[in-house]
Amino acid sequence: MKTTQNISRRAFHQAALAGSAALLGAAVGAKPASADAFPKGKYVDIHTHLGQKWGTKEKLEAVDLLKWMDAHDIAQAVVLPLVNPESWDHPLTTDFVLKETAAHRDRLIPFCAVDPRTINLSSQGKRDILRKYQDAGCKGFGESKPGVPMYDPRNLDLFQACAEVGFPVLFHLDNQRNTDTPGLPGLEKVLKEVPEATFIGHAQGWWASISGGLEQANLQQYPKGKVLPGGAMGRLFDTYPNIYADVSAGSGANAFSRDPEHGRAFCIKYVDRLLFGTDYLMPEQVVPQFELFDSFDLPEEVQAKFFRDNARKLLGLSA
Ligand SMILES: [Zn+2]
Repeated sequence: MKTTQNISRRAFHQAALAGSAALLGAAVGAKPASADAFPKGKYVDIHTHLGQKWGTKEKLEAVDLLKWMDAHDIAQAVVLPLVNPESWDHPLTTDFVLKETAAHRDRLIPFCAVDPRTINLSSQGKRDILRKYQDAGCKGFGESKPGVPMYDPRNLDLFQACAEVGFPVLFHLDNQRNTDTPGLPGLEKVLKEVPEATFIGHAQGWWASISGGLEQANLQQYPKGKVLPGGAMGRLFDTYPNIYADVSAGSGANAFSRDPEHGRAFCIKYVDRLLFGTDYLMPEQVVPQFELFDSFDLPEEVQAKFFRDNARKLLGLSA
């Protein structure tokens, strides 16, 4: 009897334990993948760089970037190489970015870059390199910043290769790099001819085009004052599903701060196309984006898409 009682008691406890485990399992299993599972933070930054000590430039290592991200509530950041000779004062190669981010891939997301003018690099060679970088962990292509027209056959071949691999292309557009004319007809031809690729616009020429009434020189500037009707950006958003905007750098901030009323309305109207970004690349760099977009007091669901969810969706990040 005693034995039976003992067995019963043990059986009861086992059954109870199994029951709670099952309940717990059901609860965990039933919980959908949610934002809680991503690294914590208000933002995903679509545009940062790491830097080596070069001339008077101070280095910026992965640990420094992570500390800065913690201080600014940034959960994850895309780290962009700079390989085009027009892009920076020294090359930041894809291999450097891969190596530096290797121990922090939950928070630092590497992109890769190839110069479209690279000698002896065949069309197939470009594809092989992109696949190699993808296997190594890269989630996109950029920063594309070559001294060629946006609509250039060498660019088109590279963009087509990115589409085949599934890389979004983050490009810098001004009067020196990925050049175009007011109204952005070159970019429009690219969007039309490579509809399978996804593009992310950045820099002065792109952001000046939030406004109409532009002259060529404006594509290298930070125009002030009221945004005029007829801007190429809204037209491209309305016509092509494959173009997004990176709000980083002085150019991105200026496009919204020059006319805050228009800026806030633009955030709401085109919330599905906007990606939060800073272009942080140097210690002590001043970044206006945090205060600026906070001052717009955007609805919670607009903030969620713009500040983090659009980027995660576009890059296929999972928790
Ligand atoms: Zn940059």
